[in-house]
Amino acid sequence: MSQDIALEVNNLRVHYKTRTQDVKAVDDVSFKLYAGERLGVVGESGSGKTTLALALMRLHKAPASIEGGEAILDGRDLLKLDREEMRQTRWSKLSLIPQGSMNSLNPVIKIKHQMADAIEAHERGRTKSEISKRIWHLLGRVGLPESVAEMYPHELSGGMKQRVCIALAIILEPSVIIADEPTSALDVVVQRVVMQTLNDVQAQLNAAMIIIGHDMGLMAQSADRLAVMYAGKMVEVSPIDSFFKDPQHPYSKLLISSLPSPEERRELAGIPGSQPSLLDLPSGCAFHPRCPVAVEHCKQVVPPLRDFSGGRRAACHLVEEQAS
Ligand code: SF4
Repeated sequence: MSQDIALEVNNLRVHYKTRTQDVKAVDDVSFKLYAGERLGVVGESGSGKTTLALALMRLHKAPASIEGGEAILDGRDLLKLDREEMRQTRWSKLSLIPQGSMNSLNPVIKIKHQMADAIEAHERGRTKSEISKRIWHLLGRVGLPESVAEMYPHELSGGMKQRVCIALAIILEPSVIIADEPTSALDVVVQRVVMQTLNDVQAQLNAAMIIIGHDMGLMAQSADRLAVMYAGKMVEVSPIDSFFKDPQHPYSKLLISSLPSPEERRELAGIPGSQPSLLDLPSGCAFHPRCPVAVEHCKQVVPPLRDFSGGRRAACHLVEEQAS
C-alpha cells in the first residue's frame, strides 16, 4: 500500500436540518485514504456511514446539508466544486456502489443498454462497436460472460446483478471507489464471491476503496484498515491486524467481543444499551452511557480523535491517558 493520499477528508460535518435543531449525522470526521488501500468503515445503523458516503459524492439530499470541512481529491476540494465540475468528477475519479444498488437496475432494459447509457453519458462520440467491446471487457473484469449484456436484470441472480453494479461503478476507472454495504441481501457464499470481485477490480485499477458495512468477518478479510463510527463520529481508525488483536476504543473492544472466534471458546458479550438518538446525544463522549470503563470526565468532555503509535487513532480519554 502506498503512502500517496488518494482522498483526504478534514473536519467534515453533515447535518440534517430539522425545524427545531441541526442533527449532526457526520460530526467533524477527518481521515486519509491512501492510494490502493481498502478502508473499511463500520458502525451501527444511524452512525453516519452512508451519510458520509453520499456527502463525499455530493449526492446527499435535503434535509442533509454539508456544514463544513473539506474533501481533497487530486488537489481539489470536492465540496467546493460547482455542479458541472462535480458531475465530471463523479464516476471518473470517485464512484459509488450505493446501498441496494442491484435493485436500482432498470428491470425492463437490457444490461447492455444500461451500461451503454452510462458510458455515453460521460464519453460521447463512441461507435456502437467500441461501446460493445467496452461492455464485454467490463463484464469480463467482474467475472461475467459477454452473454450477460443481452440479458434483463430479472434473468440474473443477486450476485450477478451486484457484479453488474460493480462494472457500472468502474466504467471510467475511478481512483476512489466507495462501496456502501456491497454484499447486503446476498447469501454468505455469494457475499464472498462479490467481495472477491470487488477486491480484484480495485487491485487491477489500483484504486483506493472505502467499504462500508457491518460484517466484521468480511471486513477482516478485505480491509487494510478499519474505521469505526459511532453517533456521527469516527472513534477508532486502525490497521486491520492491530484492530482485531488489540482494539483501542472501548466500543471497538465490545464489537470484537460480540463476535464468535474459531480459535477460542468464550461467552459472546453483547454491547449494553443501544446507540443514542442523534436528536438527543449524551454530553461529553456519546458512548459514555454504554461504556463499561467510563469515568466522570467522559460525561463532560468530548474526546478528540488522536494519533497513537502504529498508525492508530482513537477518540477516548482513557486511551489517551494510558498512552501518555
Ligand atoms: Fe468510554 Fe470515556 Fe473512552 Fe468514551 S472517553 S469510550 S466513555 S472511557
